[in-house]
Amino acid sequence: MFDLKDLYQEVIVDHNRSPRNFGKLEDADRVAEGFNPLCGDRLNLYLKMEDDRISDIRFDGSGCAISVASASLMTEALKGKTRDEAEQVFNEFHDLVTEKKPEDTDSITHLGKLAALLGVKDYPTRVKCATLCWHTLHSALEGNTTPVTTE
Ligand code: ZN
Repeated sequence: MFDLKDLYQEVIVDHNRSPRNFGKLEDADRVAEGFNPLCGDRLNLYLKMEDDRISDIRFDGSGCAISVASASLMTEALKGKTRDEAEQVFNEFHDLVTEKKPEDTDSITHLGKLAALLGVKDYPTRVKCATLCWHTLHSALEGNTTPVTTE
């Protein structure tokens, strides 16, 4: 039988075990640092911009399975996207995970693999783990140099 929850779980385990785009990006032109004191998740996000497009994106750091899987999935989803497109994905993901917007088939299809993280919305403390990388991305795109914290 096809169980969506199991599939989501598998995606998270896989991305935590072998995170994509992990490691420093030497020629990054934007770097941002994020910290979630509640859980101890720390990450550095590296961006290489080509005009308004994210031509490369990588991350490193350490944290719980959710924070690592989320950052890994995010980098996969955003490579090649423009800044506006990236902010759109961020807003969509954020609205769903904080339940500002009800989950519907359209938004789930839109998010693709990122939808695997929507299960965290039942656990408010885990929402911070899942959104840390997104807040860090936002800061990197804005060119902020102050470290991001979820508190
Ligand atoms: Zn965490």
